[in-house]
Amino acid sequence: SPVIELDDVRKVYPLPAGDVVALDGISLSIREGDFVAIMGPSGSGKSTLLNQIGCLDRPTSGDLFLAGKNTREMDDRELTNLRLSEIGYIFQKFNLIPLLTAYENVEYPYIMKHRKNDDTGHVSNLLALIGIDEALATHRPNELSGGQQQRVAIARALVNDPAILLCDEPTGNLDSRTGEQIMDVLSGLHRKGRTIIMVTHESEIAAYAERTITIRDGRVA
Ligand code: ADP
Ligand code: ADP
Repeated sequence: SPVIELDDVRKVYPLPAGDVVALDGISLSIREGDFVAIMGPSGSGKSTLLNQIGCLDRPTSGDLFLAGKNTREMDDRELTNLRLSEIGYIFQKFNLIPLLTAYENVEYPYIMKHRKNDDTGHVSNLLALIGIDEALATHRPNELSGGQQQRVAIARALVNDPAILLCDEPTGNLDSRTGEQIMDVLSGLHRKGRTIIMVTHESEIAAYAERTITIRDGRVA
């Protein structure tokens, strides 16, 4: 059964110079456990597509179903709750909070969801599993390498055990060897059943996925 379904999704950014049609009628279906790469030239709408799926934004028109629910029928609060429980997001630039330690960055969405600190050891276990030891967990992002920061970001994305992991150019800021290590982490998560959707413009990175969707001018090519 599809865990994500888009039906004729359009996204238009109104700008003073004229409307920008970023997504021009996207329909697609992603099943539970899929590992999908989204490719396409710069400006074709890849990040915009990921942002709609991740509920960071709403489509201008069309329907987006997540876990069988039509997100159009949900208010902002319901959508935020759905996002916190179903979606993990990682970014090219890691987007960790600079003033928080690695541990605190990972714990943050846990607190947002549970309204309390983690007293179960879940955050520490997750960090250890992903290759960040206790000493590194006390470091702030600027005291970590790029690969270590992306590992922390992956742990943060997984802390609420989301079904879906969205990755926007996850290796874009990493050297190729570190990038391969991060892709090995993502492949492992896929093998354990996580649904992964990854934007990339590198075909060697897309090769880790089972399926590639190419976007051109806001449409599925
Ligand atoms: P890609 O990720 O493939 O590079 P984007 O989704 O970032 O493409 O952008 C698609 C189009 O939408 C581009 O023309 C871009 O300039 C425009 N765009 C993206 N985000 C915004 C925004 N917040 N406001 C206005 N235009 C945007
Ligand atoms: P990418 O190629 O990964 O999409 P960009 O540098 O194109 O990265 O865009 C980074 C962010 O800036 C996007 O997520 C989008 O929301 C925003 N953005 C992109 N183009 C525009 C634009 N023309 N106007 C406003 N915001 C934009």
